Amino acid sequence: MRPVYLDNNATTRTDPAVVAAMLPFFCDQFGNASSSHAFGNDVAGALRHARRSLQALLGAAFDHEIVFTSGGTEADNTAILSALDNRDGRNEIVTSAVEHPAILTPLDYLEHARGIKVHRIGVDARGGLDIEAFRRALGPRTAMASVMSANNETGTLFPVAELAEMAHRAGALFHTDAVQAVGKVPLDLKATQIDMLSLSGHKLHGPKGIGAIYLRKGTPFNPLMRGGPQERRRRGGTENVPGIVGLGKAAELALSLMQGEQGRVSALRDHLERGILDLGQCMVLGDTENRLPNTSNIAFEHLEGEAILHHLGKAGIAASLGSACASGSMEPSHVLRAMNVRPSALRGAIRFSLSRDNTIDDVARVLSLMPDIVAKLRALSPSARTQAPMTASLSPASELT
Ligand code: PLP
Repeated sequence: MRPVYLDNNATTRTDPAVVAAMLPFFCDQFGNASSSHAFGNDVAGALRHARRSLQALLGAAFDHEIVFTSGGTEADNTAILSALDNRDGRNEIVTSAVEHPAILTPLDYLEHARGIKVHRIGVDARGGLDIEAFRRALGPRTAMASVMSANNETGTLFPVAELAEMAHRAGALFHTDAVQAVGKVPLDLKATQIDMLSLSGHKLHGPKGIGAIYLRKGTPFNPLMRGGPQERRRRGGTENVPGIVGLGKAAELALSLMQGEQGRVSALRDHLERGILDLGQCMVLGDTENRLPNTSNIAFEHLEGEAILHHLGKAGIAASLGSACASGSMEPSHVLRAMNVRPSALRGAIRFSLSRDNTIDDVARVLSLMPDIVAKLRALSPSARTQAPMTASLSPASELT
């Protein structure tokens, strides 16, 4: 039976059209974009084309606002260090408590190694940012605010255009980690005050190991990678040409397919969610009114997410615990803890994340298996057996279902 992949927030399948676009750049057009001969010129043209494709997807004003990186993690690290180096006398950063480790880990490091102050703003039960606390944390010492566009575990969207204006009023730069949003929801950076944005190829059916940072024209910037003059001296190192070409093709496909796919994928996601909620004693985590179209994080009361994943895996179905990065660690996800998810549900959270590759048959397969899996695990769970049915009294997110 065909495996069913519902872990697209961890990574996506590279689109075969992306692979086809990349292939000539290994053996035929293998030149170095910096070379002045024909081999180099061909490649430089391909890089320009890819940059324009990303410009279009992001709604950026200029193609040179895109700087290619090795992925989302490099883009996030670049944004943080550059902002701190360019805001004399300002050594505070305002962020959210639910960012990806690509933001939180460098901030933890800088807090200890460089003595910067980090304000980690909390979220409500649906994962939405405490906007008033964000406003209060901004001040004359804030170098940058960095808040993700969409959360990787719950799909909750953040009002980044509004947050960027608030950061600017305090004289701070604004960065958003949009790794989960790019390619899934429309963006129009021209219409916002966002200074920097991170994205990653492998989350939008592009290759792994390639990404970009958007850098609004005029934004003060210090490179993370210092070396040759590539990327207008903003990122040294010979360009990953096949990767960049693949990312450009992925951006073109995302832009052309987005309108139709957004509605189709969210309808599949909602169908899956409704079918699972009908089983009772489970709830959706995140903001169901304001979410990525592909993401559903469902907490099963008194069950272990690992056990559910194990049974799904045996049937060829791949999903993940709250977060791919948290899988394998025994710590409950920092995102779900920040949302104050009750302990009895915390360990039972499963993230289903769909993509344009999924079909109604995939969803039907999951829904045909879940009743048995859940019934079997509930029968084995001592706490589930001793508790009264909880669907009506789940908190804090019960009203979401
Ligand atoms: N930011 C978010 C929100 C992510 O989901 C991820 C990947 O899981 C990253 C950053 C890191 O991106 P990359 O894998 O390209 O380094």
